[in-house]
Amino acid sequence: MARKFFVGGNFKMNGTIESIKGIVKNLNDAKLDPNTEVVIAPPALYLLLVREHLKNGIEVAAQNVFDKPNGAFTGEISVSQLKDSGINWTILGHSERRTILGESDKVVASKTKFATEGGISVIWCCGESLEDREAGKTIEVIEKQLAAVSPKIGDWKKVVIAYEPIWAIGTGKVATVQQAQEVHAAIRKWLKANVSETVAAETRILYGGSVNGKNCKELAKEEDIDGFLVGGASLKPEFVDIINASQ
Ligand code: PEP
Repeated sequence: MARKFFVGGNFKMNGTIESIKGIVKNLNDAKLDPNTEVVIAPPALYLLLVREHLKNGIEVAAQNVFDKPNGAFTGEISVSQLKDSGINWTILGHSERRTILGESDKVVASKTKFATEGGISVIWCCGESLEDREAGKTIEVIEKQLAAVSPKIGDWKKVVIAYEPIWAIGTGKVATVQQAQEVHAAIRKWLKANVSETVAAETRILYGGSVNGKNCKELAKEEDIDGFLVGGASLKPEFVDIINASQ
């Protein structure tokens, strides 16, 4: 089965009602490759606004979700609340949540289980720090992150993997095509050995880390790069070029 190209936009904690409406209008008016699946993740406060204004065919993602059904969890949002609002995706395990908010592999795995079992698809992020890479530990770190989440996933059709080297996020320092392809191939190899041949063949593996309108086409040509998770550039008109990168 061919893997459909996938582009996610992670707005992080950016935007206003006005600017986010502008991004939505730009996407609604643009000619987007029908062979690319597009999902955008605004801050929680704007999820409903985006869902209301965005054209059908583009999905909306939360940037996080909690792993309890409901109750006294101040500041959190549940899987069923996302579904109730027409939000069918969430990002989980983003390195900013792992490093700044202290989310462990175990917490990310539990949230991934809760989301997928509750019917929400997950853009699950992994990636190494500069220190890990310089110590030659990139693959070891990614495999540890995969090993924590994998037993919690019953339905891999509900998961796309985003490989995001921490040193490339928001730094303007994009991984080389070879560096990205090497890790993507290693992730696929791990899935084949530890989950199944089918899951390895069908799971989309996205690259994230300073992707922009200029570098996206070259990255998109690689065999194991099935799309992108885009931060900064998802707020700009060039996001459309990234969506159309595999054309
Ligand atoms: C991200 O936050 O997921 C990301 C990839 O950010 P940027 O594209 O800005 O590096």
